[in-house]
Amino acid sequence: MRLEIRMSRQENTEVLVIGAGLAGMSAALEADKAGSEVIIAVSSTLCSGSSFYPGTWGLGMVAPQDEEDKKNFVEVITEVGCGMNDIRLSEVLIDHIGEDIEALEEMGVTFKKPETSAYDETLIPCFDRKYRKWYGYLFETAKPAFKDRIESSAIKVLEHTEIFKIIPFKNHYLALAFWNGEVIGIAAKSVVIATGGIGGLYEHRLNTDDITGAGQAMAFDLGCELVNVEFMQFIPGFIEPSYKTIINERALKLAQILSKDGRIIIDDLEVLDERSGHGPFTTRLPSQKFDIEIFEEYLRTGEDKCVKMQYKVSNMSQEGLMIRDYFKWLKEKKKVDASEDIFILPFMHAANGGIKIDEKAATTVPGIFAAGEVTGGMHGADRIGGLSTANGLVFGKIAGREASKYAKKMDPVAAEEQSINIDSIHIVEGHDAVDEIRKLMYRYGSIIRTEKGLECALEAIDAMEKQIREGEECDLKQGLMVTHSILMAKILLKSMLLRKESRGSHYRKDYPEQSEDYDKALIMFKDEKGEIGYKWR
Ligand SMILES: Cc1cc2nc3c(=O)[nH]c(=O)nc-3n(C[C@H](O)[C@H](O)[C@H](O)COP(=O)(O)OP(=O)(O)OC[C@H]3O[C@@H](n4cnc5c(N)ncnc54)[C@H](O)[C@@H]3O)c2cc1C
Repeated sequence: MRLEIRMSRQENTEVLVIGAGLAGMSAALEADKAGSEVIIAVSSTLCSGSSFYPGTWGLGMVAPQDEEDKKNFVEVITEVGCGMNDIRLSEVLIDHIGEDIEALEEMGVTFKKPETSAYDETLIPCFDRKYRKWYGYLFETAKPAFKDRIESSAIKVLEHTEIFKIIPFKNHYLALAFWNGEVIGIAAKSVVIATGGIGGLYEHRLNTDDITGAGQAMAFDLGCELVNVEFMQFIPGFIEPSYKTIINERALKLAQILSKDGRIIIDDLEVLDERSGHGPFTTRLPSQKFDIEIFEEYLRTGEDKCVKMQYKVSNMSQEGLMIRDYFKWLKEKKKVDASEDIFILPFMHAANGGIKIDEKAATTVPGIFAAGEVTGGMHGADRIGGLSTANGLVFGKIAGREASKYAKKMDPVAAEEQSINIDSIHIVEGHDAVDEIRKLMYRYGSIIRTEKGLECALEAIDAMEKQIREGEECDLKQGLMVTHSILMAKILLKSMLLRKESRGSHYRKDYPEQSEDYDKALIMFKDEKGEIGYKWR
């Protein structure tokens, strides 16, 4: 149906940046530096999203050792990504990380760095082959550094402003946002989408609640292509106690995994040893058994508290610093004693795919740029640890510069509008469709994927959509959240169905091997009938 939405006010700018994680803030600062008028609109606050995940000291970032190392780094990204990356994007990423980290240091961001130059195996990023340069950026200095820089710039910050629709309008884009119970419009000559990943589509996720997948949905709706969306990272986390606590994979070799009633699920030392070498689930290694067996138990019982982990704590004194630090942190910060039973399951952590961009962070729609976890292509089927934060930083800056260049070529934004018509849907009052979608996505579209399960989820979502369309009109904000979730869930499920093989993070139980028939990236787009189309690259 068509819905008339009245805007309580309209802001005009040259460059609109949506999101204030590493990618969004880097883009905004760069567009400001290039002389553009900039607005950042963020549904929460500055320094938010996965880039500033609460409850931890900071996040890891990796950079190549030197010029020579760059080529090797791109080769390993391609190998780990099972050939699903766009090599040009991986090259741009690796080429810029070093200088962009230096620029952060000049801004006042400080980093945890290895204390000695001695070889330390625990600093090899997850899935990487060798030690490069590891940096841990510290939130305690990154937050004030970004905030000070933004406050002393001409950037206008609109916090608690959630963009829900971007419309090409006359000679510009009009972004509609919820702000303080009202709808406002932000007209811009160019837009940078930096809204993070798709964690909000999954029941168990490590992301904060502002990470909904709305950016990908809005971009798709506008005509942007999406790439590699079937590839995403799941890592084991705590169900109870201390829900959402991340498991340090290095400590997995000290664990045994049991069913709720004490039946051993995994105690194979080889599997546990290999699994303690990487955080996210992957089908590239025999340690896939760890996550698959746990998830089988979840599917069999249908209960969240179905798998428990017990650490063999008596061996701890012989373990390395990282492991001892982790147990200390568990006890002090999370009040969890390593000797107690801990219920675990895989948690959605980060997306490897997203909006398709080129080396200039341009999407397939002119004037729309994207950066960070909302995008895809620089990583493949599996991603090396520390490259997601780096991706936000590098492509955020590129997107800001390019969006500014684009805006400078455009005419001034046209006059203000009072109201606008958009397509929306009716939703059934009290019907919590988003929760239902999250449950379906977790059950059928996470670790174990099968044709039957994926089709079952798609049918359930189609039925839900039909019921919703026929239902009573309800709150606009909730309705749009449901609209975005349904769209993204369908795109993801269709991509998972189309890839009839297992590759990297994508496991099809009915097609457990990687197949050369699928040595190509999958691109999803809105076809001329407005349906979900796809092509292979
Ligand atoms: C627990 C955890 C640990 C991680 N550890 C690492 C690590 O060590 N190394 C690594 O490389 N990667 C790591 N990752 C992944 C990495 O943190 C993210 O991929 C990266 O920080 C994403 O940055 P971003 O700027 O693209 O998005 P985010 O930092 O997620 O920011 C998204 C922003 O968009 C805003 N937003 C969302 N929707 C809207 C909307 N509709 N309107 C307005 N604003 C909106 C959000 O409020 C937020 O400000 C980790 C992720 C998690 C969850």
